[in-house]
Amino acid sequence: MKNGHVPTNDKFIIMNSKERIAKALSISTDTKVFEMGQGVADMTPAVFGKCFPGRKAAIVADIHTWPILGERLYGLFRDAGIETDYYVIDKEVFHADWKYVEMTDHIVEGDYAAAKAVEDAENHVEAEPEKLFREPSDAYDVLVSVGSGVINDLCKLASYHHGQSYVSVATAASVDGYSSFGASITYGGAKQTFNCPAPVAIVADIDVIAAAPKEMTAAGYADLAAKIPAGAEWMIADFVGAEPIVPDAWHILQDHIDDFLADPDGVAAGDPKAIADVFEGLTLSGFAMQAARSSRPASCCDHLFSHILDMSGHRFNGQLQSHGYQVAIGTLAMCAVFDELFKLDIESMDVDACVAAWPSLESEQKRALELFKDMSTPELGYDSITSKYEDARKVRADLNRLVAVWPEFKEKLQGQMYSFAKMQDMLRRAGAPYKPEHIGVTNAQLRDMFPVVQLMRYRYNLLDLAKRGCFYDDVVDPLFASGGAFEI
Ligand SMILES: [Zn+2]
Repeated sequence: MKNGHVPTNDKFIIMNSKERIAKALSISTDTKVFEMGQGVADMTPAVFGKCFPGRKAAIVADIHTWPILGERLYGLFRDAGIETDYYVIDKEVFHADWKYVEMTDHIVEGDYAAAKAVEDAENHVEAEPEKLFREPSDAYDVLVSVGSGVINDLCKLASYHHGQSYVSVATAASVDGYSSFGASITYGGAKQTFNCPAPVAIVADIDVIAAAPKEMTAAGYADLAAKIPAGAEWMIADFVGAEPIVPDAWHILQDHIDDFLADPDGVAAGDPKAIADVFEGLTLSGFAMQAARSSRPASCCDHLFSHILDMSGHRFNGQLQSHGYQVAIGTLAMCAVFDELFKLDIESMDVDACVAAWPSLESEQKRALELFKDMSTPELGYDSITSKYEDARKVRADLNRLVAVWPEFKEKLQGQMYSFAKMQDMLRRAGAPYKPEHIGVTNAQLRDMFPVVQLMRYRYNLLDLAKRGCFYDDVVDPLFASGGAFEI
């Protein structure tokens, strides 16, 4: 159990899955029903009827999820007397591109011909996001998303555009996005998170999820493993007062995360219990995000490596790499950075020298513009550093406090973190990538991502602290030196 430096809250301790889920639902703001277990897909019409009495359903699936579950659900809905339609996205592979949001908007409105036209459009002109909002109406269909990350995000955002919610039926334990606030969609050439509420109901049939392709579950395991360094970076942001820990959001996930990650061999073997644990962990991290109204509980630098790869359209053997696969490498990178941090003699830090070396905002802005100049969003680093830059007085105060409490704070961070060696072993056993080369990234490319990672988000991270304390090179360079985690 990880308590960080958050006061232990008795009500979260010794809970079984049912109690955990009940507690999680009590703090989640959007999701009111979460059914997880073997065979629970059959409950979907009842869940729909309870959440949306009298409304017409529209099942959204793709050519993979329709035969494994969508078609069966369609029959069950009709047997239950619910007026139901369905739309199957006719693509072997598709990504979270904006045009599919517009396609899904048409499905909500029952205009399947328009949906199909957008789906098949070669050179679709993207509509402006603000223009897609409609007044709520009972005349719209309520979506039943049957799939994993992309289909769920499309249904989440299209439902929001129409002022209503939807039911998410999961087909793989591949991402934490089922229950998260927001949808991650590529718009204008860049991956962006659009605010939108999580589904009112999630149905996770472990029989279906355990039969999903192994690499999808491995990706979900890695996305869950990212909550280890993400939690430690939240502790750091809390320490400097940038983003205080939200106790409910912290405890609901972090108190149990070691258990959820405990059986990587079972995950690889398709064991239903191990996979249910991963799914529950991912879902609870979504609830944590709902409670915090932010992705802070679930991601920090570990995810930013993935965002860089998304923005550059990175492919390996011609294939885009899944979110979880990319996050696996970011997670490993941050475990290695924390390993180096724990070796440092922070108590001997020369705070005066660090404050004297602290750059001006102007020079940081210049560095950011130079770093991002060839990227699809050249002003991203500039905006982030402008938002999170702090003056020398604040830097001095934070460093003085860090030095004063380091032994205690270090112990808490160590209680949260896994070493690089441990994390690498767990990812390997789960069948996830455990070296950058497994997703087609060289160690040198990983090294070059670090300065971008530090500056690409307004969010305070470990690398920001390292810059302030003049130990950035001490925690990053050894990773790529002889004998380092990512030796070049
Ligand atoms: Zn993620």
